[in-house]
Amino acid sequence: MQTDVLIIGQGICGSFLSWYLLAQGKEVIVIDEERASSPSRVAAGLINPVTGRRMVTAWMVEELFPFANKAYTDFGAQLGIQAFSRKDVVDLFPNPFMRESFLHKLTEGNEYIHRVDDEMHFANWFNYEFGAGLIGPAYTAYLDRLLPAWRAELKQQNRLQETSFDINALQIEPDEIKYDGIHARQIIFCDGPAGMHNPFFQALPFSRNKGEALIVEIPELPQDHTYKKSLLLVPLSEPGLFWFGSSNHWEFEDDKPTPAFLEQGKNLLQQLLKIPFKVVDHRAGLRPATLERRPFVGFHPLHPSVGLLNGMGTKGCSLAPYFAHQLAQYISGNTSAIDPVVDVKRFRRILERQ
Ligand SMILES: Cc1cc2nc3c(=O)[nH]c(=O)nc-3n(C[C@H](O)[C@H](O)[C@H](O)COP(=O)(O)OP(=O)(O)OC[C@H]3O[C@@H](n4cnc5c(N)ncnc54)[C@H](O)[C@@H]3O)c2cc1C
Repeated sequence: MQTDVLIIGQGICGSFLSWYLLAQGKEVIVIDEERASSPSRVAAGLINPVTGRRMVTAWMVEELFPFANKAYTDFGAQLGIQAFSRKDVVDLFPNPFMRESFLHKLTEGNEYIHRVDDEMHFANWFNYEFGAGLIGPAYTAYLDRLLPAWRAELKQQNRLQETSFDINALQIEPDEIKYDGIHARQIIFCDGPAGMHNPFFQALPFSRNKGEALIVEIPELPQDHTYKKSLLLVPLSEPGLFWFGSSNHWEFEDDKPTPAFLEQGKNLLQQLLKIPFKVVDHRAGLRPATLERRPFVGFHPLHPSVGLLNGMGTKGCSLAPYFAHQLAQYISGNTSAIDPVVDVKRFRRILERQ
């Protein structure tokens, strides 16, 4: 079987890359073994313009946000689903210090931070004492709709192989790769955390980070916002369902859900909510983070037919569409360079040493 690009992985990266390549007239085959712990199936889908406790404006927000808006809207329209929704973040201050810090950002003129008219408006649903502010625009990508819908489409077009990819069976030539009867001009690894063990790219400065979340039914809580009080409560596409999380661990035994987070999460929900809730699922996964917090995009310096789109860290929902598009443009010859800040060739010396 002949194709242009063989893609390994159908998380956010592999989905957007295959979608853009097909739109540019390229032939693709995707190999993906669906794993419950893959971060694209665990993520909240939140696209937040500020990051962390110190509320730093997210990297490239002015380019990434409009791009993501259009990308998810167009992708969803093609699949006949709503894949994106605006859900500004209601920040329920957990203590006076966080309130002060928020107000300080406001006076600095951060355009993503706003006052709310009635700070105690959310007291029907939440226990909080120190008022609230608003972060926006923020969005949620409905990955729980998008990924299965695109998977079904790829399957219907005979472009998906639902199996485990065995790297030992891969044959590399400068202008072609061969794998289990497939001949392709290029192979692109969109294999998420598994990429940290990929012999071509394992020397890259990846940094694994584990996160856990609970899926919670809260029928009485309005789904027009995301809510934050230390952890996040993000509305999912299904009515009444929210994602609650997440933890953030650099040291862990495996990528499985832990009883400790389940216990801690239930306790936090009990303290936070004034209305009934029911935990219906518990998920965990590894974020494919990088030490310098920038993605890995492009081709191996020694193997021009072997590429990757990875290292999306905590921000796959906003980074993946933009850089998948850039990589697809590069593969199609519509642009002559990948942004050097993300181009994997910045690690040429490390990769050539392997
Ligand atoms: C708890 C948690 C919460 C998060 N919340 C958010 C959020 O709100 N917003 C945000 O922007 N980001 C969030 N993230 C980060 C985001 O999930 C990731 O950046 C993103 O999902 C990475 O996507 P990916 O396509 O690179 O990898 P993956 O999602 O891992 O996809 C890789 C795919 O490749 C497949 N695969 C790998 N190896 C093989 C093989 N050998 N054979 C066959 N198939 C293979 C896997 O099964 C998987 O389907 C969160 C992550 C976690 C863990």
